Amino acid sequence: MAYLSLYRKYRSQTFSDLIGQDHVVRTLQNAIQTERVSHSYLFTGPRGTGKTSTARLLAKALCCEIGPTAEPDDTCDNCRSITLGNAVDVIEMDAASESGVEEIREQIVEAVTYQPMICRYKIFIIDEVHDLSPKAFDALLKTIEEPPAHIIFILATTEYNKVPPTIRSRCQKFEFHRASMQDLIQRLTYVAEMEGVQAEPAAIAAIARMADGGYRDGLTLLEQAIVTSNGTITLQQVYDQLGLVSEEIVDQLVLAIKEGDIPAIMDLLANVARLGRDPRAILESMMYRMADLTRASYQVSIEAGFEATREAALFETASRIGRDTILRLRGELADAHKTIRDISLPRLWLESELVRLALPPTVVARPSHEPEAHRAKHASTVHEPAAKPKAAVLPPAEAPVAEKPKPATPEVAAPTPEAPVVEAPKTASEPPADPWIKTVEELTGISRVLGMKLDGCVITSSENHLLIEFGPSSYDWVNARPKAQEEILKSVKRNFGPQTEVEYAVKKREAGLEESSAVELPAEGTMLEQLARQVFGADPNNQEKQKSQEPGSPEPEPPSEY
Ligand SMILES: [Zn+2]
Repeated sequence: MAYLSLYRKYRSQTFSDLIGQDHVVRTLQNAIQTERVSHSYLFTGPRGTGKTSTARLLAKALCCEIGPTAEPDDTCDNCRSITLGNAVDVIEMDAASESGVEEIREQIVEAVTYQPMICRYKIFIIDEVHDLSPKAFDALLKTIEEPPAHIIFILATTEYNKVPPTIRSRCQKFEFHRASMQDLIQRLTYVAEMEGVQAEPAAIAAIARMADGGYRDGLTLLEQAIVTSNGTITLQQVYDQLGLVSEEIVDQLVLAIKEGDIPAIMDLLANVARLGRDPRAILESMMYRMADLTRASYQVSIEAGFEATREAALFETASRIGRDTILRLRGELADAHKTIRDISLPRLWLESELVRLALPPTVVARPSHEPEAHRAKHASTVHEPAAKPKAAVLPPAEAPVAEKPKPATPEVAAPTPEAPVVEAPKTASEPPADPWIKTVEELTGISRVLGMKLDGCVITSSENHLLIEFGPSSYDWVNARPKAQEEILKSVKRNFGPQTEVEYAVKKREAGLEESSAVELPAEGTMLEQLARQVFGADPNNQEKQKSQEPGSPEPEPPSEY
């Protein structure tokens, strides 16, 4: 039985099939419509992002019997033979295969003298072109410098920098991007449907995520999942297949670290080891989860593929752990990930690492039962007037605080070496009954997720009116939930007065550093930690680390992958 891999079976056959490469498609179609076709193209980008598929599509567009056309019919002899890879005038070569190198040179030299046999053009598609031998590059360069009208080169590479500058400068360059999660999920769902396979949306999302934007990798993983599935592809099955650890277990681990519960850490690790999970995969699963938790803690919208229940669990965990701890752990895990490759007893090493991580916060954060992020933020956000006309009604004393992003609160900023955190008892530094703090506390009691959404808000209160400004994703979230709005209104009336009306708005970007930095500049790992320090002041749990980052001492390299 002839078996066609999913990737080949579902290879994009029309421009509209190509996912995530709209910028490339638009420019190519334009060039064809305006008859400004170049004679040499260079497609660069990560593997599996559609470079070769696009090259074939371009070949079809140029050679189609009804063409050249931006929409090849995909049914004529020329199109069909290109799809099957046996068109005489469309020559596909892989420079990475050793045998091909000399052949490529010969073919190129020869092709210059002969006209195409059937199609309008003779088209060379050379994959991994950076691997060509110097001789082959010479031949290529000569042809590209003065291309005969009938020859078109489409060069593809994953390593743009290895392509000689002389070649680069003569090609029209197109950069291929990784597909977005949403695009990939959509495509994988489509393929699963076409294959008649049921799949949990969360399972598809997990596959898309592991494929890291690579369409081919995504389909390969889906194919494996189909093979091992028992009718329906489940999230658990995908985790098993990929050797990952489930979100629930990762959450338990992270919470155990946060709470300094060392027996729990050891139990959990022993359990996942029994399931045959590799220590590196455990670490990676934790890093993925920390990335999600970071997003949740900054209320940046979560990547596609999260259903409501999983999202709620995510927000719940983020709120229990607290942003400071999330950022600290994330940095530490990224460091650990760099080290674990070279460790000879990775399982034991990982255990001792996680136990170590669990230690300092125990000494530090125990007395608090409230997530630290909450406290720090309440104190600073409540009196922030957004510079809006309405704020003029506020008493003058409150006005000049301006839109400064969260100044470091004393309890976080000024640690003494002996007793690092010592969060000041609430009553000492905060007015006893701030109505907004009470509102957020009440609503957190009803729903932690709702509490988190409100936590980062900027409010402006004037007579019988309360303006609540959310980050964009939280705004959408609240907007879509009338029940939540009802609860907010009730609580606001209780705390601000029964006449108070509530107005919702989207926070201006500049209104908070956390918002703008999180949305526009995806800082990660060590960078994120540094940013966090600017925002919150020193993190007392990390004094040693800070010392090593003072000017003069070499700065630790930011983690490469995260
Ligand atoms: Zn055609």
